[in-house]
Parts: sequence; structure tokens; C-alpha cells
Amino acid sequence: MRLLVVEDEPDLLASLLRAFRDEGYAVDGAADGAEGLFKAELTEYDAIVLDVMLPSLDGWEVLRRLRLQRKTPVLLLTARDGVKDRIRGLDGGADDYLVKPFDIMELLARVRALIRRASNQAESRLVLGEVVLDTAARTVHRQGEPVPLTAREYALVEYLAVHRGKVISRTALYDHLFDENEASLSNLLDVHVSNIRRKLGHEFIATRRGHGYCIAGDPE
Ligand code: CA
Repeated sequence: MRLLVVEDEPDLLASLLRAFRDEGYAVDGAADGAEGLFKAELTEYDAIVLDVMLPSLDGWEVLRRLRLQRKTPVLLLTARDGVKDRIRGLDGGADDYLVKPFDIMELLARVRALIRRASNQAESRLVLGEVVLDTAARTVHRQGEPVPLTAREYALVEYLAVHRGKVISRTALYDHLFDENEASLSNLLDVHVSNIRRKLGHEFIATRRGHGYCIAGDPE
């Protein structure tokens, strides 16, 4: 999953980017509203964390303009706990909000929930044949045994699992698994896929020649 964090306090931005990367997300940062809107319009993010008080364009305006084009899930960070602000955010198309200062663990949990809701996933547990994925605990089991995956392997499995039954193109996978600073080596994806197959079974991920990759299953 790929996220955008729009936050003008450099220390907070850096610590949020680090926290999301540690969880295996690809994540881009923007330090003001104009840059945030530009990136949000350009890239199909899985979720956006948007500070309200920003230079150039404030969070409300970024959200208003973004909603003319995209439904990307947005979590607002607000410094104020006013009821009016919360109503304005939710009416403006925000999907959730957090009042500063917040606990990073709560932010991570809310972003997971946002992504789950956006993909109509009621539960955090996905059963894919003999493989069980828990998107809250970020664990994978095969035939009841835990399977250790790297953060990037997990991210790839999660993205395909959430979109199971659909063929996901290589381009889409690169867009959702790698951030703007990562060199997209053309064979990187294949290396991850072959490592996952070694751990979860060759049939777990199907290759659709010329189209992309797929995990079988019925979408909810
Ligand atoms: Ca701010």
C-alpha cells in the first residue's frame, strides 16, 4: 500500500514517514498544501494523511480540490478539537480525523482501518485457501504455521490479497508498493514474487503473462 503524508512540521513529517515505512508501506511526503495536492492528484494513493493547518493551501482546500477528482481515503490531522472543525472535515469528504497530539499507534491503526473500509474489507483476517492473512497483526500463516515475510513481501501479498480475484498489472504494483524515491528495478517485483512463492507455495500467486499477477479468490 502506498500513502501520502502532508505535514509542514519537518520533525513530525520525518517521524511519520519513518513509522509508516517501518510498517512496510511505500510512503511519499509533502511539506505544504500545494505540493500535497499535486502529488495526490498525480498518484493513486491507498490513503492520505493530511494536516489541516498548512502553508500555501490549507488541508480543507486540498481536500475540496482533491474530491473533485479522486475518492482516495483521507485522514485529517487537526490541532483543534472543535466540533465545527470535525463536522467541516467530515462534510468536506474526509474519511476520518485525529486530533493533535496523537499516539502514532492509533494513527497506524486508523490508516489500516481506512484502507480496509475502502476495499470493503469488513474483517482484518483474510482466508486464501491454506494461507491466512491478518492485516491488523500483519502476519501470514500457511496451514496454521506462521510464515516470516519481509515488509515488502508482506505488502505485495496484502495488496494482491485485498484485490483477490483480479489481475493486478505490474505498473499498478510498482505504483502501490514503491515510493517516489525508490529506483524501480525492473526485476525487483519478480524477485519478491519468487520469494513469496517459495514460502507460500508456487500456486499462491498466478502470473498472467503480459498482464500482471493475481491471487485467486472471491472479492467480498
Ligand atoms: Ca501544520
